[in-house]
Amino acid sequence: QILSWVWGRRAVSFSEMTNLPVELRDRLDMEFRLSSATPSFEARSSDGTIKHLWRLRDGEQVESVLIPADDRVTLCLSSQAGCALGCRFCATGDLGFTRQLRTAEIVEQYRDADRVSVEAFGRTIANVVYMGMGEPFANLEPVLESLTVLNAGFEFGARRITVSTVGLVPGIRALADRPEPFRLAVSLHSADPDLRLELMPVERKYPLGDLLAAVRDYQARKARRVSFEYAMIDGVNDSAELARLLVARLEGIASYVNLIPYNPIPGRSWGPSPWARIDDFRSILASAGIPAAVRTPRGRDIAAACGQLRLERELTGAVR
Ligand code: SAH
Ligand code: SF4
Repeated sequence: QILSWVWGRRAVSFSEMTNLPVELRDRLDMEFRLSSATPSFEARSSDGTIKHLWRLRDGEQVESVLIPADDRVTLCLSSQAGCALGCRFCATGDLGFTRQLRTAEIVEQYRDADRVSVEAFGRTIANVVYMGMGEPFANLEPVLESLTVLNAGFEFGARRITVSTVGLVPGIRALADRPEPFRLAVSLHSADPDLRLELMPVERKYPLGDLLAAVRDYQARKARRVSFEYAMIDGVNDSAELARLLVARLEGIASYVNLIPYNPIPGRSWGPSPWARIDDFRSILASAGIPAAVRTPRGRDIAAACGQLRLERELTGAVR
């Protein structure tokens, strides 16, 4: 009965559960909580994107982002407070790792953002992507459990949930073991192992060859297209030669490549590749039969775009 209130009716307190005896509701209210996070900050971008900062019980904060498109709203949620993987181009990586999120702290981002989505856009969330702060597969058990709660509890379709990983092989294998058709996205950013290592320290532990072997195994079991994220950084990883190398490395994998114009972060001199170079890169992939799309940056003005999520402490201080 309680779960049907929480999952079906999005209840946030026991007092709403009118088919339970009053004394039981009072006792539940005294002994348990249905919320572990309170919204501490909300920012709305000129493009409609809404970023939330959630304050957890111990004072930690994480971010989630609602991204409206023509006919659907996507929620980008966080799986950890901070991130330990230290990718050079990512503001969350700069922040360092603070702590793991519990299953409830992941799932509540969905429950609470969905209410905002209905109020702000008149529709419920259509897609969930684990692309906020943190590396989902570095918090494996709670993330796997959060997938179960979203899918079996909230009845959110598995095909509409994408887990994005920096390339942690055990996590890819664990997702492959799941019976549900969750989607996998892999952050690649370079098909050249040396350059990838410069950009992403994880390359040392899970080298490109092992990573792509795990993706191939995943695909053999799931028969499902895998997405690759590729941030286009001006003069760093955007040459035609690297596009051809990417084509060669993705041979035999049914792929979809998302080209993300690099979003500037504080303390780096890097910029996004010029449009013409992004388009050249895309057409080299396309002519080799690899579908690729350029992802329009969303929410840049409120630091909500890919890789920009980090705690704006001054900002949150202001609303406390
Ligand atoms: N840790 C996971 C998921 C969160 S990051 C992962 O790395 O996949 C979401 C996406 O944004 C990743 O593909 C990441 O590589 C990318 N990203 C990080 N910083 C970026 C930046 N400054 N510009 C563009 N994309 C960036
Ligand atoms: Fe962590 Fe992903 Fe950022 Fe890398 S890109 S530092 S894995 S959040």
